[in-house]
Amino acid sequence: MTETYGNLINGEWIKDGETFDVFNKYTNEPIAKICKADEALTKKAIDNAYETFKNERLSVIERHDILMKAVELFRKHKEEIAQIICAEAGKTIRDARTEVERGIQTFIASAEEAKRICGQGMPIQAMPGNDEKMAFSIREPIGVVCAITPFNFPFNLTAHKIAPAIAAGNTVVLKPAEKTPITAIKMGEILLEAGLPKGFLNIVNGFGHEIGPILTSDERIAMYTFTGSPAVGKLIKNSTGIRPVTLELGNNSPNIIHHDVKDLDRAVELVVTKGFGNSGQACIAVQRVYVHEDIYEEVLEKAKQIAENLKVGDPSLEETDVGPMIGLEEAKRTENWVKEAVEQGAEIVVGGKREGSLFHPTILKNVTEEMKVMCEEVFAPVISIVPYNDIDEVFQKVNDSKFGLQAGIFTSDIHVAMKAAKELEFGGININDVSTFRADILPYGGVKDSGFGKEGPRSAIEEMTVEKVITMHI
Ligand code: NAD
Repeated sequence: MTETYGNLINGEWIKDGETFDVFNKYTNEPIAKICKADEALTKKAIDNAYETFKNERLSVIERHDILMKAVELFRKHKEEIAQIICAEAGKTIRDARTEVERGIQTFIASAEEAKRICGQGMPIQAMPGNDEKMAFSIREPIGVVCAITPFNFPFNLTAHKIAPAIAAGNTVVLKPAEKTPITAIKMGEILLEAGLPKGFLNIVNGFGHEIGPILTSDERIAMYTFTGSPAVGKLIKNSTGIRPVTLELGNNSPNIIHHDVKDLDRAVELVVTKGFGNSGQACIAVQRVYVHEDIYEEVLEKAKQIAENLKVGDPSLEETDVGPMIGLEEAKRTENWVKEAVEQGAEIVVGGKREGSLFHPTILKNVTEEMKVMCEEVFAPVISIVPYNDIDEVFQKVNDSKFGLQAGIFTSDIHVAMKAAKELEFGGININDVSTFRADILPYGGVKDSGFGKEGPRSAIEEMTVEKVITMHI
């Protein structure tokens, strides 16, 4: 018998009404039943978060201590959480463990940031006639934060929303991805056990197109924090009026390996493993790889060898490097995109094979910028390796994208590195690292269709608080 999970309203898990199944993404067996939040229950969650915010506040020390207690409990349950991620997201067990460790660090950083929330002193006397005045600001919690999360990092990306929201003193309504809700439910259970009072976190489960409009149209929600696809990001932005939204969306992550790269083996290893990790289902997974023509053949050969040696299959096995994609439809979509690229002249260097929802790590060459595998977000274990000879031209190609989340460049020429830092139109540039690198404490977020607003505990707290300016005539 599979376990049934409820919705969290006012500190109680409500288990009634219609349910939907969550499947093991490798075996396709149902592993849990999740109660769907209907309109009435979703409204109840918002009522409760709203009333709680109006009537109760946690002190900074309380917020810090609850988050740190949760850290202690996450550590105690970390293998259990990793196994859940592995089953419901199809993530390899090794990557699932890494995700839990990262999520724990996100909680710790948020707890620490809770103690640093402050406004600023302001030099009002710089304006004529204000010598008798002083000015400063304070930062206050924004109110009810609605967090909507994707399937691909169900622990760490949920942590990136919930932990700063609590640290900032807000109440939260969380809508986890319907394909991977169990991890978020466990996070909710642990936060309650850590002492988070009822009402500070409500969790509503269900399908985005059903619950989404109820959440986005309710004016009692003060702010939305969304991670997911650009299409849904646009819907959310268009339906939330003048209320603030942070959108963490997609990318077709470019990476450049210049001829003067210091450690070619490291660069190729990173490009390949970070293109295929989590089956390429990361917004900053390596996708477009531009390699200087002097080292192109060598890179292609090394990349092929690494890809051929990756173990594809059951994500619960320690030795597996690449597990299934999130579902059969996504794997078939990937197969079609690769087929289409091949029809348009691309060549498969390695991979290209689908077995159910497993898509084998695939490297393409002879691609053009117009192919979907290049210009759209592939979000699958498919990378394309493209030769170049002129760095300015390649910068143009890298920028000629509707996305702008992160990019990577490998070079030992400081001028090329700084030119990339200045000219590439992305939210983050990783020099001598791949686009996939992210340290969870740093500001993180994109430009163009990759979204706007920043995450990372400190930045997220800024987004989730309001700066109030105080002046005083002395
Ligand atoms: P998705 O957009 O399909 O779903 C994300 C969430 O939005 C889910 O909880 C879903 O139920 C909900 N949703 C769907 N329709 C909705 C609606 N009409 N109103 C409100 N909510 C709705 O994305 P996904 O498939 O879960 O995740 C993959 C996408 O997420 C990729 O594009 C990827 O690049 C992006 N992503 C971005 C980042 C980042 O930090 N920039 C990180 C991870 C994933």
